[in-house]
Amino acid sequence: MGDPIRDNAAPHGPIEARWERRRFGAKLVNPANRRKLTVIVVGTGLAGGSAAATLAEAGYRVRSYCYQDSPRRAHSIAAQGGINAAKDYRNDGDSIYRLFYDTVKGGDFRARESNVYRLAQLSVNIIDQCVAQGVPFAREYGGLLDNRSFGGTQVSRTFYARGQTGQQLLLGAYQAMERQIAAGTIEMHARHEMLELIVVAGRARGIVVRDLVTGEITTDLADAVVLASGGYGNVFFLSTNAKGCNVTATWRAHRKGALFANPCYTQIHPTCIPESGTHQSKLTLMSESLRNDGRVWVPRAAGDRRAPGDIPEDERDYYLERIYPAFGNLVPRDIASRAAKNVCDEGRGAGPGGLGVYLDFADAIQRLGRRAVEEKYGNLFEMYQRITGEDPYAVPMRIYPAVHYTMGGLWVDYDLQSTIPGLFVIGEANFSDHGANRLGASALMQGLADGYFVLPNTINDYLAAGPFPDISGSASVAEARRAVSDKLEKLLSIDGDRTVDSFHRELGHIMWEYCGMERTEEGLTKAIGLIRGLRDEFWTRVKVPGTGEQLNQNLEKAGRVADFFELAQLMCIDALHRNESAGGHFRAESQTTDGEALRHDEEFGYVAAWEFGPTPILHKEPLDFEYVHPSTRSYK
Ligand SMILES: Cc1cc2nc3c(=O)[nH]c(=O)nc-3n(C[C@H](O)[C@H](O)[C@H](O)COP(=O)(O)OP(=O)(O)OC[C@H]3O[C@@H](n4cnc5c(N)ncnc54)[C@H](O)[C@@H]3O)c2cc1C
Repeated sequence: MGDPIRDNAAPHGPIEARWERRRFGAKLVNPANRRKLTVIVVGTGLAGGSAAATLAEAGYRVRSYCYQDSPRRAHSIAAQGGINAAKDYRNDGDSIYRLFYDTVKGGDFRARESNVYRLAQLSVNIIDQCVAQGVPFAREYGGLLDNRSFGGTQVSRTFYARGQTGQQLLLGAYQAMERQIAAGTIEMHARHEMLELIVVAGRARGIVVRDLVTGEITTDLADAVVLASGGYGNVFFLSTNAKGCNVTATWRAHRKGALFANPCYTQIHPTCIPESGTHQSKLTLMSESLRNDGRVWVPRAAGDRRAPGDIPEDERDYYLERIYPAFGNLVPRDIASRAAKNVCDEGRGAGPGGLGVYLDFADAIQRLGRRAVEEKYGNLFEMYQRITGEDPYAVPMRIYPAVHYTMGGLWVDYDLQSTIPGLFVIGEANFSDHGANRLGASALMQGLADGYFVLPNTINDYLAAGPFPDISGSASVAEARRAVSDKLEKLLSIDGDRTVDSFHRELGHIMWEYCGMERTEEGLTKAIGLIRGLRDEFWTRVKVPGTGEQLNQNLEKAGRVADFFELAQLMCIDALHRNESAGGHFRAESQTTDGEALRHDEEFGYVAAWEFGPTPILHKEPLDFEYVHPSTRSYK
């Protein structure tokens, strides 16, 4: 146990005025000085892309990195359903305060009020910014931007571009970046992977990268480093994340002193295409937006294997509508996922192995017509049909929960600065705004709020003290570079008899089994032992063919899986210590009589921020709730 930690950057006073006060209190950097300051941004998804473009537009020199062949292939491109904003175009009672309230409650009272309020305030600016960029949001007949609903809310505040919202938003951020690349203010390094953080005199001053095409290892030094490297759901091997998503950038920073917060909070999304066999390397999401019109059901009787069309209405259980009448099919993800697991555990699941529930559009097609359903969800239906071979217009979709998003990440203060001065962390890579459970359509909102609006304001306060001294001759720089080469050489030299993927798959299996939808003390303790054993085996038996001086995807994967092993242990340790259920973390020992998550606010009302070490050290950041008082989270 370490000392408690506090968010010293957070302002006090009325919540509506806190962000304004912080902005006013932050030091500014005059335009002439900005040109002398360099910022490295790792990641070109919505968070990193928007941050790089905005910082460069402001006049800083930006160097941007991603491992894809183009910044616009970042994982954000996969986001389907939409982005929240408290515009209240529908006049259905929405407001900044309601979005704030929904998010704090949806996060099961494990997020900071100040951060969430700021997020809700900035949500409206994001939409204006993106519309100005030309992002083609769906519109109503009258010309206003259209909205739909996502889980955990009773209003319609989700802006969308068919089922491709992430792609359209990313094209907006990418265009803004491209403008700066052309202007020479952003230097873009695609197909480069950050493998180490450089810390000199206690400040983050640069990164070590590997050119994924040539294998060349270089260092890049700057005045500040921003990590926008996304989430770590792929520790489970199978997830809805893009295959390349990994934890290396944030884990390397963690090893260098950045605290890692709430690693056990994992979001399991209820509407994914069920696993179809052992050959699979990823899972596919069916957007939550489908729950606006699709109805979720299973047969009433256990073991009923009839085709869905043969099961009459009165023998179906629309269990979400039955158990949660107030929110129905739009309960938050953690609730819907656990409910799906429960009905499948009762033997009422659909499809192979009974691991699936129906998402049925028959009613919607009858009510709205096939054409209207096609307009809203056409690309998702097509995707489903291509993957499963079944026509969702004719038979209900089968869905099952899968790992989707990680609420945990590097600990940051209100300024989005980590515990290493000069290291800022934005988007899914930080832990900041979603507590124990993220509401649908809030990740894009957070990534863009961080990148377009928060970071560009707060980083000035830090950079105002720069430019920092030249450190190119520092021993720490050479040491960081050497550590990267040594690790790669070690991985190549083991020359064992097991593939990287086989280790990753086994690790994922352990995590899903013991640190997935339901966790127990016994299971987590077992998992920690299994992970340690498997990690030791990895370092003696892994086979990485090829060399380091070429394109070598096995080598890339090996480095990432090595970091996943360490992260996986920390996730289980965090899950083990948090003997309560909250949001995406369900401890079987802590549930109500009707099987709902049971929090213990007195004991666990804090952010768990872990310090790296042979035995991880826990620093608790107490959470205060002045506006939305913790209550039992009910959607009934
Ligand atoms: C299928 C799917 C659908 C989703 N739909 C929605 C939705 O509708 N609404 C919503 O709000 N959220 C949605 N989400 C969540 C949301 O898409 C993500 O949380 C969000 O896009 C993350 O953005 P990011 O910028 O933080 O990271 P990412 O988009 O993951 O970008 C990470 C970037 O970091 C780079 N990077 C990572 N590590 C390194 C390294 N070591 N070196 C160099 N570069 C590195 C990558 O190359 C990439 O450019 C969805 C998620 C999935 C999986």
